[in-house]
Amino acid sequence: MSDIRPTFPAGTILGYPRIGAHRELKRAVESHWAGEIDEPELEAIAADLRRSTREHLAALGLERENSSIPESFSFYDQVLDAAAAVGALPDRFARLRGQDGSVGLGAYFTAARGDTQTAPLELTKWFDTNYHHLVPEIGPETLFAPSSARFARQVAEARADGFAVRPVLVGPVTLLALAKPSNAAPRGYRPLDRLEDLLPVYAALLTDLRAAGADWVQLDEPALVSENLAAAPDELADAAAHAYRALGAGTRRPAILVAAPYAAPSDAAWRALAASPVEALAVDLSRGSVPAAVPGLETKTLVGGVIDARNIWRGDLAASWSALGRLGRLGAAAVSAGTSASLQHVPHDVAAEPRLDPRLVSWLAFADQKVGQVVALARGLVEGPAALTGDLAAASAALADRRNAPGVRDAAVRVRAAALRADDVVRGDYEVRRTAQTEALRLPLLPTTTIGSFPQTADIRRARAQHARGLLRTEDYEDFLRVEILAVIGLQEELGLDVLVHGEPERNDMVQYFAENLEGFAVTENGWVQSYGSRATRPSILWGDVSRPEPITVGWSTFAQSLTERPVKGMLTGPVTILAWSFVRDDQPLEETARQVALALRDEITDLEGAGMRIVQVDEPALRELLPLKSADRDAYLEWSVGAFRLATAGAAPATQVHTHLCYSDFDAVIEAIAALDADVTSIEAARSGGGVIGDIAGGGFTHDIGPGVYDIHSPRVPTVAEVITTLERAAAVLPLRQLWVNPDCGLKTRGYPETVKALENLVEAAHKVRQRV
Ligand code: GLN
Ligand code: ZN
Repeated sequence: MSDIRPTFPAGTILGYPRIGAHRELKRAVESHWAGEIDEPELEAIAADLRRSTREHLAALGLERENSSIPESFSFYDQVLDAAAAVGALPDRFARLRGQDGSVGLGAYFTAARGDTQTAPLELTKWFDTNYHHLVPEIGPETLFAPSSARFARQVAEARADGFAVRPVLVGPVTLLALAKPSNAAPRGYRPLDRLEDLLPVYAALLTDLRAAGADWVQLDEPALVSENLAAAPDELADAAAHAYRALGAGTRRPAILVAAPYAAPSDAAWRALAASPVEALAVDLSRGSVPAAVPGLETKTLVGGVIDARNIWRGDLAASWSALGRLGRLGAAAVSAGTSASLQHVPHDVAAEPRLDPRLVSWLAFADQKVGQVVALARGLVEGPAALTGDLAAASAALADRRNAPGVRDAAVRVRAAALRADDVVRGDYEVRRTAQTEALRLPLLPTTTIGSFPQTADIRRARAQHARGLLRTEDYEDFLRVEILAVIGLQEELGLDVLVHGEPERNDMVQYFAENLEGFAVTENGWVQSYGSRATRPSILWGDVSRPEPITVGWSTFAQSLTERPVKGMLTGPVTILAWSFVRDDQPLEETARQVALALRDEITDLEGAGMRIVQVDEPALRELLPLKSADRDAYLEWSVGAFRLATAGAAPATQVHTHLCYSDFDAVIEAIAALDADVTSIEAARSGGGVIGDIAGGGFTHDIGPGVYDIHSPRVPTVAEVITTLERAAAVLPLRQLWVNPDCGLKTRGYPETVKALENLVEAAHKVRQRV
């Protein structure tokens, strides 16, 4: 093979959604799991999907023959793909491997999902996105070995169709940086220390990909932009220097593009990559600024990630073009246009949204429209700026239209936000509140409660779908919901829970429900984005100033409260979570948008109180998720996010008990923020993480009430009474009993009734047993 490296295309995307425009992959994979189609059938559907994706991207203007089309397909997760390709699956999956040690689909899916005998890999958030990746487990016993067949087959399959694709793999530094020590690893073990052993395996993968016909390969290294990982940025930069010196030295390899999406790479990492012998570097210019001119760039192609892959706005194409110009002045051998990250974070196509307001549509760009923008910029780079004039003018016109459109700025909302004062976020003395609430609620020691949703049964989903399609009249749908709420309240009374919920049967999703009922939001029909594995969500679009035309939850909450003497919690989603799980306008700081959402929720709380609700819960499961990747940005974030929660809740009367709920994260970095929320009661995921978070919170001198999740709702397993007691005792060892509540880890909507009832019976019994001992 020749040593002359092929040139990099003038435009590319770092990845494309792999779930299929109609979620074909989800359907196929789930029917395979259900035993309805076998492995060859599943593989055939996946191959068809890859083929049609390639053809589609070529039709959108990416080139067939020069590696401008990435191959970023995954059956479940790109981190699992990389772990499987280097053989880094824990021993507990060994029995599922092929005789030659290869990782087949069976072992792959079991690692992702577990089975009756085997726990799956842990799932966690991918950088500051809404995507979840699997966490590799690496220890001294991990034997790395190349298993390149799947990636190589995809390259060869594309070649056979006349496409030179660029396979995309998570790079070695990021793979190790995201891994956790295996169960067999000694204390203090660091997977990153295995880099030396891992590199020859990556080198072998690269050789195999070259042999299969890849001219270029893309190695994703987002670890190099994050300051939130166990390893420090300088260590990661050293690892990158070492890794890319070694991988670049290989001769029988494709040309290498190293991509650093989601923020600017650390200075040290940027220098290391520039000095390495790889051929191209991709930087995120929508979240980071143009990096410094450093030695080594003169031999590299720089891919400017100027088209934002994290949101759905059409954006400022002229600004993208000038950012490419600034990148061009760093002295690199060439500059290409690209997306800031993989387009896996946005839906496929705006054209699939016929019901959206056409004016809004003209401001939007989903994945396909972003591909079009990259193609236009590439044309500008190749043919000169004149080739781009029309595109720039159209984009600027859309931007100007958006700026001046009704609803983008709402005078009443602006006036109200501008008039806010410091004491609008202060609720008043906690001891006074505590006394008033004790008096109003008369709860026992260790009150029992749940997080909000009850199982979303097939009946509920069917009724909702029929109502949405106009097949079920609104009156009938609402009758159905009332019967459901009646049953859920009756069940909770029977179980003996102390603080009840209405079960949230009316909500399709905890954010979309509010988006549908607030001004300033639009919801999509087909805007699916992969969340993890076969799961996808449909984020709402927050495009204008937010206000609440009328009460949203009051009717359902008061109906539930009318059925029981026990207190029922009014249930709201908090401002930070509403932002985190939507596509948010990019024309003003998040802080300002959060304040508008908070004010709408504040009014809702006032109305709930006015209608007689004594407790409101404002869920903020995404509080940790938006934590910036750069530590310098952290304080400002915590200030506005905590401020937004407080603005939403501080209007509540002293006797109204405000709850919050936090989950899905490792809360180490935000312990102080949890106290600063000043919620009267915080329920927090603690069962899966072993309860350590409660110790951390107690260590900070936490004075308010807290409900450590006493069992993991992600699994159908029913906790025993003894287990729940153990969790409570652990919490009681660090906090006074009077501060503790008893609740599951999270909402019950994904569970079935049989296990839910048994688990809650045990939860209540455990609380009673502990109460009797004091
Ligand atoms: N109240 C919501 C529920 O119970 C909270 C969900 C969540 O934390 N993700 O479903
Ligand atoms: Zn939760």
